[in-house]
Amino acid sequence: MDRRQFVTSSLAAAGAALLGSETYAAIATAEQIPASLLSSAVQQARFPDDFLWGTATAAFQVEGAWKEDGKGESIWDKFTHTAGKVKGGTTGDMACDQYHLYPQDIELAKRLHQKSYRFSISWPRIQPSGTGAPNMKGIDHYSRLVDVLLQAGIRPFCTIYHWDLPQALEDRGGWPNRDLAGYYAEYAGILAKHLGDRITVWAPFNMPWSFTYMGYGVGAFPPCRTNYGDFLKAAHTVSLAQGEALRSIKAASSKATVGSAYGMCPAYPKTDSEADRAAAARYHAMNNVYFLEAAMHGRYPKAFVGDTPYELMGFKPGDEKIMHAPLDWVGFHYYTRRIVSDASDAHASGGGSFGGTEIENDPATGRDPYTRFRAAMPTEGPLTESGLEVWPQGIYDLVTQISREYNHPIIEITESGCGYLDAPYDKENGRVPDARRVEFFREELAELARAIIDGARVRAFHAWSLIDNFEWANGHTERYGLIYVDYRDQKRTVKDSGLWYGRVSASNRLDV
Ligand code: BGC
Ligand code: BGC
Repeated sequence: MDRRQFVTSSLAAAGAALLGSETYAAIATAEQIPASLLSSAVQQARFPDDFLWGTATAAFQVEGAWKEDGKGESIWDKFTHTAGKVKGGTTGDMACDQYHLYPQDIELAKRLHQKSYRFSISWPRIQPSGTGAPNMKGIDHYSRLVDVLLQAGIRPFCTIYHWDLPQALEDRGGWPNRDLAGYYAEYAGILAKHLGDRITVWAPFNMPWSFTYMGYGVGAFPPCRTNYGDFLKAAHTVSLAQGEALRSIKAASSKATVGSAYGMCPAYPKTDSEADRAAAARYHAMNNVYFLEAAMHGRYPKAFVGDTPYELMGFKPGDEKIMHAPLDWVGFHYYTRRIVSDASDAHASGGGSFGGTEIENDPATGRDPYTRFRAAMPTEGPLTESGLEVWPQGIYDLVTQISREYNHPIIEITESGCGYLDAPYDKENGRVPDARRVEFFREELAELARAIIDGARVRAFHAWSLIDNFEWANGHTERYGLIYVDYRDQKRTVKDSGLWYGRVSASNRLDV
């Protein structure tokens, strides 16, 4: 089935969804998307009774209130206030106004039978200039948020850093400056001291490869630097920060468990050649497990052709010990996959370019002179409206690979989702018939259930996202929410996918 047929059948399914799940299932059976499972697998999929169904958001993407209650400027405030950086010229000044509307959003999450909410804390709300005594208005805000979550029976999962660095720390050199590891550990300790009586689940960094590479290596994100050495230094500071933070969190809160929220894409070699298989292994090392390996084993994996460039990283003797901080559980996102080939013999390198958050354009040359691979997103499966290939079995491959490589850790899927622009439809009483999103999750979750049956210890899944939100450099041109947001008046409308996900969360099954 080609992509046009997929879209047509999904839109037809949107109407059918109204008539009940049987009709919907029949349509889904009739036309399978490439690499999708048979619908019997969807019907038979079951999740454990105590499975944690959740959603995820990030402070900058949902909060708004960008200069309220003493908050300092972040690098994303500065970036979005710079002409030409964000599609549509949107900023995060208002975003979803969740800073004020959180009781309403959590009430909606509760109605959708949610068990976990992964949110992030804005560092410049806590330390407006990046260091020093905490701004208690910032602490109080998150303290109230946590209380409201607990009252709703929802587990608070805190991401300590989801990209909004205090601008004052960027002015001191940003992540390539290794002093930031200490500042960050202090910030993390403040959070654990004030919130650690109620938050037990902490992830230090969201997608550390992405914000260091996109921010310092290729300049698609703030602070818009394009220097590979700066990327390597930033990544090394983050590894040190991750280790130091784990210790400062545990010192401040005896209940704390620390894991991760890494971005990962399963990497498939383009051909069966030795060279392409080695290139896919380097992709996995650099993009998927670089920071995980640093935490678990106090070393970097073989991501480079030739020697690890320790000098360029700013690696110092003894750093292995600082990085080493075994995680209590392993969290990662899955959106899409990569096909990787060797670029060792490419004449030029550094040709890769990135747009938005997730899409790596196929570089004509290798990505850089150190890792020497090409990583392309294939288009064999259908594309979402955000341009990512839909490949349900990728989550099975990734989860089972990480389980194998790290001795069967407890796993949390910290994000997964898809961008489709479906909006309220007046001929359907204002419903949001986003059947393609239902289909995405249904197929993917069936693959996740299969990984669990095969022994992976997955205890949670967080859909990205609870609500449509500010999609970084893509502004409001992409919508990932289970709940639609009208940015003119902040009205929320639960999409069909949100209603479906609520039924899944209540029943631990997918044929609902
Ligand atoms: C040294 C490397 C060593 C690495 C990890 C660096 O400082 O230059 O030779 O392998 O630390 O221990
Ligand atoms: C990021 C989110 C982002 C989402 C969709 C994830 O990788 O953590 O912040 O909104 O992708 O692009």
